[in-house]
Amino acid sequence: MRYEMVAGFETHVELATNTKIFCSCTTQFGGEPNTHCCPICIGLPGTLPKLNKRVVEYAVKAGLATNCEIAEISKMDRKNYCYPDLPKAYQISQYDMPLCKNGYIELSNGRKIRITRIHIEEDAGKLVHSRGNTLVDYNRGGVPLIEIVSEPDIRTVEEAREYVEKLQLIMRYIGVSDCKMQEGSMRCDVNISIRPVGSEELGTRTEIKNMNSINFITKAMEYEFNRQVDVIESGESVVQETLRYDDVSNTTSSMRGKEDANDYRYFRDPDLVTINVSREKVAELKAELPELPFEKQKRYVEEFGLPESDAQLLTKYRKIAEYYEKSIEGTKNPKTAANFIIGQIFRYVDNESEKESFNINVSSESLNELIKLIDSGKIRMNLAKSTLDKMLETGKKLNELISESDMAGLDENAVKELCRQAVESNPNAVNDYKNGKQKAIKSLVGYVMKNSRGKADPMLAERIIGEIIKNS
Ligand SMILES: [Zn+2]
Repeated sequence: MRYEMVAGFETHVELATNTKIFCSCTTQFGGEPNTHCCPICIGLPGTLPKLNKRVVEYAVKAGLATNCEIAEISKMDRKNYCYPDLPKAYQISQYDMPLCKNGYIELSNGRKIRITRIHIEEDAGKLVHSRGNTLVDYNRGGVPLIEIVSEPDIRTVEEAREYVEKLQLIMRYIGVSDCKMQEGSMRCDVNISIRPVGSEELGTRTEIKNMNSINFITKAMEYEFNRQVDVIESGESVVQETLRYDDVSNTTSSMRGKEDANDYRYFRDPDLVTINVSREKVAELKAELPELPFEKQKRYVEEFGLPESDAQLLTKYRKIAEYYEKSIEGTKNPKTAANFIIGQIFRYVDNESEKESFNINVSSESLNELIKLIDSGKIRMNLAKSTLDKMLETGKKLNELISESDMAGLDENAVKELCRQAVESNPNAVNDYKNGKQKAIKSLVGYVMKNSRGKADPMLAERIIGEIIKNS
């Protein structure tokens, strides 16, 4: 029998606020253990939490960017469980009245992955296991999170990968989180079950907890899919349980039996007031949202005539997209600017995090100037390219590297002279050309370009060389 995967995600995203969700402690990553804490975030009796307004605003933005409805009224609840990373023995979260619901993310294959809800909650502390002891660090306790819960709409690991990547991109674009999976500011739990292809029923699911790399997620899902197929094929049934993925052995193992919501004894947190988000506030936050990467991508293809793949590369990081848009302001060459960035500038940014910060030697204004010189015919493409390389290497400005005389180009007589030299000094190429090898002329044009330091017009040179050979 053939089976299909049915998977849903619960994604925790740390919000990039400066302070924690219920106190004014810093949310900075790292720091000496237990130094970013106060009586509120370690839950001492008698302290009173106060909800950080920015947390609500960020969560609303996340909801708007994922097509959610924003609740006018919502509230905070206590989720009770006893574990050393949670000194109060309850986590403040949202149960039956989440801030956002009924959204979706559209994948490139046109399928919509429905978002059930997005709610806000506090993060727990971190347990550090060392030499047989377990230590606890509460620096992370009280850091604001949103939990983005999807419907079980994902059918393949490719869809899972795209879903997580899109969430990551959107959250970074709108500035609510850096979504650094390796630092734990984005973590995924995956619910996964299988069913015969064509069936509409849902099978018993397992939940793989707390994965912090897209590669691990897809590997774990593949492993778990195959494991469940084996279980069913051997006549047994899948047990509903919570699993942990081990990236060394590439297997999943049981952590605990699955709890249900009523195990947590949720109830409204009596210390916190109702959250009221006015429609005016929603409109205001919506107006603050930037154009999203997929909207940009579509516009780059339609408006600038870029290939889909280039548009994707330029929109993946907000800073690169902004750089690109500034560099083409008032120019007629959106394609050339795209080629310069992808072909030349990207060589100077080694990895994804450098692309994210995009600190390069050449400002968008300089690139804009260069493109305008090409537009006005003052500079040839070859010279523009080599100048850009020099700017990238040295950090020098355009006017330090290129003079008026460079820009003037060569007049036709000077080009003719160089063409004559090219023909004289390359008899082999001339013979090849005469014998029908059309391409041989390129090396002659190359000679002219090299000896004019890129200033000659290659089309003109090719025409003149052709004439010289014909008449010789
Ligand atoms: Zn605190």
